[in-house]
Amino acid sequence: MAHIVIVGASTGGLPMAYDTRSILEKEHKVTVITNRADFTFVPSNPWVAVGWRTRADISFPLEPYLKKQKIDLIVQSVEEIKPDESALILDNGERVEYDYLVLATGPKLAFDEVEGLGPENNTVSVCTTDHAELAYDKWQEFLLDPGPIVVGAVQMASCFGPAYEFAFIMETELRKRKIRDKVPMTFVTSEPYIGHLGLGGVGDSKGMLESELRNAHIKWICNAKVTKVENGVMFVDEHNDAGDVIKQHELPFNYSMMLPAFKGIDAVAKVGEDLANPRGFVKVNEYQQNPKWNNIYGIGVGIAIPPVEATPVPTGTPKTGYMIESMVLAAVHNIKNDIDGKAPDETATWNAICLADLGDTGVAFVAMPQIPPRNVSWMKKGKWVHMAKIAFEKYFISKMKKGTNEPIFEKYILRALGIEKLK
Ligand SMILES: Cc1cc2nc3c(=O)[nH]c(=O)nc-3n(C[C@H](O)[C@H](O)[C@H](O)COP(=O)(O)OP(=O)(O)OC[C@H]3O[C@@H](n4cnc5c(N)ncnc54)[C@H](O)[C@@H]3O)c2cc1C
Repeated sequence: MAHIVIVGASTGGLPMAYDTRSILEKEHKVTVITNRADFTFVPSNPWVAVGWRTRADISFPLEPYLKKQKIDLIVQSVEEIKPDESALILDNGERVEYDYLVLATGPKLAFDEVEGLGPENNTVSVCTTDHAELAYDKWQEFLLDPGPIVVGAVQMASCFGPAYEFAFIMETELRKRKIRDKVPMTFVTSEPYIGHLGLGGVGDSKGMLESELRNAHIKWICNAKVTKVENGVMFVDEHNDAGDVIKQHELPFNYSMMLPAFKGIDAVAKVGEDLANPRGFVKVNEYQQNPKWNNIYGIGVGIAIPPVEATPVPTGTPKTGYMIESMVLAAVHNIKNDIDGKAPDETATWNAICLADLGDTGVAFVAMPQIPPRNVSWMKKGKWVHMAKIAFEKYFISKMKKGTNEPIFEKYILRALGIEKLK
């Protein structure tokens, strides 16, 4: 009997637990360790921040659903990984031994890399549901005293989609409330151009998103490095293509949401360079295995992948749901191979496919492969994307309650886009 331990129970970890349970023989033990007792659907956090969703709409307690699938749950933070002993040390001092470890721990949010950034300081965040709830409290205060908004993503950020989404979601909500005229909006991003998305652009993402921002009267600053944030003022250095500072901005705001850079979690970083890259992300080979400790697998936002291209202000590459799903499929298949005495042979699909909500419309994009030049580089805008994203939220949450092991992103998004098979 093997003990498979999965750390994290979100977009990567929960499907990993279900797939492991259903694909491996029943004699094996599957344990999920997570520092949160609930599953929450991360892509809906921007909606929570303006009151379009509540926590209850997008989350559920993990325990009964995992129990039904005969998966053990430990709600504790992993504090230490001892790869040579195949063991973990938890927050309460407990030691858990594993045969296979799957790290699905997502990012550490590096607000501390910019002075004054983050929900404990001067900007809000939509990265977690806790943050989105705090952002909603501030949003309600803001509605009583509307003024300038600064929204975007700082240097070293890799996740740009939610910054665009949140800009347009706020813009839509302000129009609905008939106070848009009181709110100058500026989009501040480390991307070299609008629509780069950490992917070198997708189809006409530059033209399309610039046009959307222009139509919504949202100004933008690209190649932006946020040097500090004070209460109500953001300090931004704008760079040219050579990386020189060409303008310094002091942007006043009454409300600001800036996505931070991501790092790997401390427990991974502490192990050192055999497990983690310099930013603390889990090093994996093409089979999702750590090259030194082959019984450790990494999936999701917490793994190390190189940037698509160097940019004047550093940016990272996003890891989106479809990619994460394919990492899950590869990891579970390769663990099964290992148990069966076979070599790993399943690799993830490095394609980026996303539905981005723009408030009352949306943009769908497909980048295959994610590094240009590509075989498919496609982007389409329409109200149908907004509707598809709402439907996907319901679909994903219901599948996560059922404990399904089918590839949800592949089945749903590819069908919605009319692309059945990408591999
Ligand atoms: C606001 C936002 C919106 C997004 N929207 C989309 C979208 O629309 N489409 C898309 O494709 N992608 C989207 N993404 C990108 C990506 O799909 C999500 O970030 C996704 O949730 C990443 O999944 P994950 O499982 O890798 O990490 P996470 O969702 O961050 O989950 C990490 C898990 O690990 C647990 N954990 C962390 N540290 C420890 C520890 N030490 N001990 C125990 N447990 C721990 C956490 O509690 C959590 O359960 C979005 C990202 C953000 C931030």
